[in-house]
Amino acid sequence: MKTGIQLFDESRKPLGSRLRGNDGLWTLTGFARSFYCHYLFFAIISRLLVNSVENGIVSQLPLVYLGKKGEMSMASTSVILNCVGTGDAFGSGGRLNSCFHLAAAGEQLLLDCGCSSLIGMQRCGVIPSEIDTVVISHLHGDHFGGIPYLLLEGKYLSQRIRPLVLIGPPGLQQRVEAAAEALYPGMIGGKSTFPIEYRLLDPKKPVQVNSAKIESFQVKHGSSQHVYGLRVEIFGKVISYTGDTEWTDNLIPLAQGSDLLIAECSAYDQPVPAHLDYFTLLSKRNRLSCRKLLLTHMGSEMLKRIDQLELDAANDGDLIEL
Ligand SMILES: [Zn+2]
Repeated sequence: MKTGIQLFDESRKPLGSRLRGNDGLWTLTGFARSFYCHYLFFAIISRLLVNSVENGIVSQLPLVYLGKKGEMSMASTSVILNCVGTGDAFGSGGRLNSCFHLAAAGEQLLLDCGCSSLIGMQRCGVIPSEIDTVVISHLHGDHFGGIPYLLLEGKYLSQRIRPLVLIGPPGLQQRVEAAAEALYPGMIGGKSTFPIEYRLLDPKKPVQVNSAKIESFQVKHGSSQHVYGLRVEIFGKVISYTGDTEWTDNLIPLAQGSDLLIAECSAYDQPVPAHLDYFTLLSKRNRLSCRKLLLTHMGSEMLKRIDQLELDAANDGDLIEL
């Protein structure tokens, strides 16, 4: 006697949509068979993705499709982080400049967009013209220098129509336009296929864009006052990001209760001005009440020891479900 589930109707009769039992043999036909096959396919793919994340096996998977904007589905409450670029300004270890991609329920957001971000997005399967929002921590090239290329791609290649919201410190629009003009004279101005809205970060006032609430915390990086750590709350998940900074107690509320803190860690045991080092982060870890901490923006001394670290380190292309 056969037992279990058989996916194919041996008789191949046009029996319509039904599930029938026949002496222990269950046969799915028509619509029921089609439904089950699709269910099984998505269940296996979901399980493989979850397993890979749980086991720390993070691979360069293409971005999963999470539905259209605002559409609620089974995957809509998942927030997927793609570590597009995890390097410093010097390209240490061949890593790309800072860029983190968040996707949830069809909304797509970048935290920082360093010079090499378009290269990283192409490697990861992120479609630049589908980015809704870019949030910039501070106006250094390895954090905002990719925006001119994002605008270039939208205007001349994809001819995007999706509106783009650029959020950052005061002076963002002037710096972006000056950089774009220097790199591609005449690109700014003239007819555009998509609207660009600039909004400013203000530590006293969160910015709301679509489903994302973005808070900023002043941090310490050089002489500028307008250098921020970012905290994004989206679909019930909180992702915090230090940007570039030396230690400041503002990192404590930035990280408080977050699901993930992405922390810059330029140096290992020798502190460098305006940046964090591994020993400092390790010694302060118990003051940072984030559930997980992920190191980024690592210099060569850190990268030499990347396999011996107590704290987790991000790699270009890492994909994490929150
Ligand atoms: Zn940097």
